[in-house]
Amino acid sequence: SEERLRATVSSMSDGVLSVDSFGEVTFANAAAAEITGWPLEEIVGQRLTHIYRVSGERDDADQGVRLERLLSGKVGSGQPISLRLTQRMEGVRIVAEASATLRDAHGDAAGSVLVIRDVTEQRHTEEALRNSEARYRRIVETAQEGIWLVDAEKRTTFVNARLTEMLNYTAEEMQGRSWFDFMDEESRKMARGRMENQDYTHTEQYDVKFRRKDGRAIWMLASINSLLDRQGRYAGALGMMADITDRKQMEEELRRLATLDPLTGLFNRRQFFTVAEKEFERCQRYNHTLAVLMLDIDHFKRINDTFGHQTGDQVLQTVASIMRDRLRRVDVLGRYGGEEFVMLLPETSRTTAMATANRLCAALAATSMPIEGEDAVSVTVSIGVAALTDCMGVTLEQLLARADQALYEAKNAGRNQVRSWGGDDRIDG
Ligand code: GH3
Ligand code: MG
Ligand code: MG
Repeated sequence: SEERLRATVSSMSDGVLSVDSFGEVTFANAAAAEITGWPLEEIVGQRLTHIYRVSGERDDADQGVRLERLLSGKVGSGQPISLRLTQRMEGVRIVAEASATLRDAHGDAAGSVLVIRDVTEQRHTEEALRNSEARYRRIVETAQEGIWLVDAEKRTTFVNARLTEMLNYTAEEMQGRSWFDFMDEESRKMARGRMENQDYTHTEQYDVKFRRKDGRAIWMLASINSLLDRQGRYAGALGMMADITDRKQMEEELRRLATLDPLTGLFNRRQFFTVAEKEFERCQRYNHTLAVLMLDIDHFKRINDTFGHQTGDQVLQTVASIMRDRLRRVDVLGRYGGEEFVMLLPETSRTTAMATANRLCAALAATSMPIEGEDAVSVTVSIGVAALTDCMGVTLEQLLARADQALYEAKNAGRNQVRSWGGDDRIDG
């Protein structure tokens, strides 16, 4: 039985060492020799402290104490301690387990049996994992982009510091809340439709407008990636959020500059045509009518000459705002040229357009415009009207030319009046 035991111990892959109460090795198996790096014939008779170094490192010092306790029989069985080897295999760590404390006939501690295992690899793996975790945490925390993790119901599970900064909420305030909660009304509608049922394999990008806690709007470019569980089922999403508020504001400003007349805020000539062309096509397709009005301020040169260009500008602004107030939301309004304005009134007959034009003409003539440091100024306008029903088969440009022709007639007839193309100008609407 002794023989069988010996054979078993020799063939174990764990190292087995027995030490007496002085800490001297009395037995070692082949694995113990290999793990410690000591030749089998040298290891027996060595003091355990020769084989292990207890260095000044914090955990090593603890291990030293534990080793002492182990040798003096004060540590119970099965408690692992980790030790650093002195020579030969510098840096290798070993787990030693006091599998048994040997006792003499009087019951005093007579040494221990240690089972040792090389855990270097395991330690390295743990360390690598710790390092890579630390590395990812650093990336996440120093990223210029906000990082947002949500579960399958789009409830927040993690946000990085940058995102809390962008949205002005704390991480605790965001935890568990749906990311739709933080979106601006309009973006929420878009996002609910599109971010809800997302393709699992692609990164999708959206421009999303959020509301910060302080109420300010923030635009973000959201790059959304699905997160899958082990079974490949949808488990949530990762959002990388970049602040694009500046870009959005610039785009908005460019759009404004490209479409609006800076002085009056009305559509510029080009934008008028873009919008009017659509209305024109729609009315033509459904065989509905529409009317266009061309308006020109009478003797505007005199205003400039008498009061200066700046006053002229103020008059233009006032005329534009009165036009805007008097027309419907569906009407398309533009500044056609210097002191010439154009209007497209959808679903409007010539008669109704004439009535509108006459009211506008009278309203403008009756308005006295307060001018800084001057007596109030008043102006009159002339308006030409053309309606689609009277000119079937024409283009928008042709219709406008006819309104222009009617305007010319209004000027010739003495100004401060309305004329329509190709019809008598009785007002009956
Ligand atoms: P009419 O009754 O025949 O229209 O006479 P009018 O003086 O208005 O003649 P016309 O339409 O030829 O002249 C328009 C003037 O409007 C010429 C130009 O100096 C002036 N004008 C054009 N654009 C602007 C502007 O943006 N600001 C100011 N202050 N004046 C402008
Ligand atoms: Mg004029
Ligand atoms: Mg003019």
